[in-house]
Amino acid sequence: MAKSRLLKDLRWAWSYLTARNDLPNDFVLAVTYSCNSRCRMCNIWKSEVQPVLALSEYQKLPADMKEINLSGGEPFLRSDLVALVALLVKQNPRVRIIINSNGFATELITAKIKEIIKIKPDIILGFSIDGIGELHDEVRGIPGGFDKVMATFKAVKKLGVKDLRIAYTAGDYNINQMTQVYKLSQELGAEFTMAAVHNAENYFNISDNKITKLPEFKKEFCILINRELATWQPKNWSRAYFVFALYCFLVSHKRLLPNYSGRDNVFIDPLGAVYPSDVSGHQMGNLKDFNSFKELYQSPKAQEAISLEKNNHNWMMCTARSAMKRHVFQVLYWIFKSKLFGVKL
Ligand code: SF4
Repeated sequence: MAKSRLLKDLRWAWSYLTARNDLPNDFVLAVTYSCNSRCRMCNIWKSEVQPVLALSEYQKLPADMKEINLSGGEPFLRSDLVALVALLVKQNPRVRIIINSNGFATELITAKIKEIIKIKPDIILGFSIDGIGELHDEVRGIPGGFDKVMATFKAVKKLGVKDLRIAYTAGDYNINQMTQVYKLSQELGAEFTMAAVHNAENYFNISDNKITKLPEFKKEFCILINRELATWQPKNWSRAYFVFALYCFLVSHKRLLPNYSGRDNVFIDPLGAVYPSDVSGHQMGNLKDFNSFKELYQSPKAQEAISLEKNNHNWMMCTARSAMKRHVFQVLYWIFKSKLFGVKL
């Protein structure tokens, strides 16, 4: 089982690394602003506008996408989510699709997943966990929220979803929970993914997210990075690099690798507005105003946004992935060196 998973990951990594890149092939689609969470680091749930981009607009996306992240809001609240997944798979049969959910609506999620795995058996599901028990409930503003996510996690696992992730977002209020959430993901047999709170007035509608307690948690970062490096799974080594670069970014506010957002990866909001990433303020255009994504991408406005984006410093998986791909030898050198000598921050 572990062997076939490793082969699948390596095959996907190879196709990602060798993909032609005339157009971005890594898409984050926020498919709705509706959200049943009440998170402290995001104001999407307060949104009074509940736009939903029509399925016909998604048909304008390229036919050679490699990775699609469906996010929101809470993507499972979109009533035609199953039809959307079907459409995306029809256009891109080999695409990797990840649905990022808060995991609170257990019944709704399991009902939709039953349908989705018929269309996309290798669907990947990520559930947000920002702390253990009550701390998660507090961050997300949902009493009993942690137990709800755990119930959803177990239910979808029972349905046969094999690739499950625990997505942890660090802020000052929960950075002390990083190691516990990491351990939880290992106990659950789920992949651990990590991000730090960030600001985006156009999307999250928030501008005061920050991490100031970093020096106190240096040790936790070190433990996590060295544990991932100590395994024999290339995916874990690349995660170690990602977390290392995240730490460096949080200290210096500078990326270790350039930003290729817009060129390699894009973000599309529920109104159809296309941005290089969800923390970018440079709109490339609106899908509704063009006949195809390619036409939008080639427009002067899109090219200008891409050019401006180079100077936007952030470090999130969606904007780091393509940079790590383009600078694969730099990343491999870091892995090799760090595996030999360990990492000290
Ligand atoms: S962070 Fe996600 S789950 Fe929380 S309010 Fe924002 S969209 Fe909803």
